[in-house]
Amino acid sequence: MKNWKFKGIYLKKGWVSPAYISTDESGKIIAISNESPAVLDEVVNGYAIASITNAHSHAFQYGMVGLTENIPKGQGGDNFWSWRDRMYRIADQITPEQTEAIATMLYAEMTRVGYGHVVEFHYLRNDQSGKYYDNPNEMSDRLISAAKKAGIKITLVPVYYRCSGFGKGPSYAQRRFQFSSTEDYFKHIESLKSQYKDDTGVDIGLGLHSMRAASSEEIKEIIAYNKELPCHLHISEQMQEVNACVEHFGARPVEWLTNETEVGSNCHLVHSTHITESEMSAIIKANANVVVCPTTEGNLGDGFFPIAEYINNGGRWCIGSDSHITLNPFEEVRLLDYGQRMAKQQRNVFLNAKAGDSAALAFEAVIDNGRMAAGKQTQDYFEVGSDLDAVIVDANSPLMGRASDEGRLATIIYGLDIGAINGQISSGKWVVKSGHHTNKEEILNAFSKALCDIH
Ligand SMILES: [Zn+2]
Repeated sequence: MKNWKFKGIYLKKGWVSPAYISTDESGKIIAISNESPAVLDEVVNGYAIASITNAHSHAFQYGMVGLTENIPKGQGGDNFWSWRDRMYRIADQITPEQTEAIATMLYAEMTRVGYGHVVEFHYLRNDQSGKYYDNPNEMSDRLISAAKKAGIKITLVPVYYRCSGFGKGPSYAQRRFQFSSTEDYFKHIESLKSQYKDDTGVDIGLGLHSMRAASSEEIKEIIAYNKELPCHLHISEQMQEVNACVEHFGARPVEWLTNETEVGSNCHLVHSTHITESEMSAIIKANANVVVCPTTEGNLGDGFFPIAEYINNGGRWCIGSDSHITLNPFEEVRLLDYGQRMAKQQRNVFLNAKAGDSAALAFEAVIDNGRMAAGKQTQDYFEVGSDLDAVIVDANSPLMGRASDEGRLATIIYGLDIGAINGQISSGKWVVKSGHHTNKEEILNAFSKALCDIH
């Protein structure tokens, strides 16, 4: 047993300051109080908030950050599709060893900036010739191993990918992503589930790359396969994709999905950028969740998700860092919010002119729906019986010096630079302490080696 003291912890009812948490040997919370126990084992000079779930990640893309902010000679302009060509060139090269080294570094960095759980949307699974590896779980095992080394919890979402476009078959460019059938895909899911069933830091989810990556029957089959598992898919990210869907299915992507499949609360629609009012209503009616990835959506020129209207109608949402062009959960929230503030020339647009607190609203959505996206569900941010997973905000950061609880969460979400986030505790153990990942040097060495070989 261990007794912790924090300057404060943030619960749904607000701040408890100071706060005392006791944990058992496995790092589970056994008591939360505002009264000190007789013995204190660790006094933390910081405020604890719940660890954030990064609900959408493609780990290998971290290896190409910074390489596509230019237009090569002869390319003309640049958009999502030309970026995708360059991303495929990187995906073609990456070995299992590099995948593990890149993912370990990425996940370690995630813990440093406040993420305690990652949902890895994993489609780079075949060898360079497009064949399954001898161990069909090779790439999945590498990603899970990376998460363990980095000290982040993972929900691995193997992604079904078979077609190169609406009504098309497989293609050479996507050979490393493809499954040959849903039967093969479900076999893969079941094998991972049984391999990791006793591992508390690992969950397995279902994934479908996009509407263009599977036939209508396959889409229905995957959505219906197992309602107990979270099911993720990219949708309505680009207008070209929306138009192709209308041409092929006679309906827009969300329209078709909500009409034709059993989409429900376990479904997590990544992006959903281009939706009509009736599609928005259909997502909300199905109680599905939208995973918004604002910094990637901005970087790729996708468009703005209509967050204010969506919240006003009761929509569920959370965030992901997707391509990892930016790793900062608070910046994801700010960009999502500020894009709409600028477009509407209004402030606090999350609140739709109702009284409330933007930071509290955003935090609740990001934590609660993020946990569901990872296949988890809890009531409060910290609860007796749950793992102590916490992000620590440095109490010495200038703006954290305010004595009152008022505005503290909004200061963290809207005001602080990432340097003020200086700790991560996972299942009662320090993963990041005083701003440093406990295993950084070793992870960085392997990452630098992997990066040298990627062009
Ligand atoms: Zn994505």
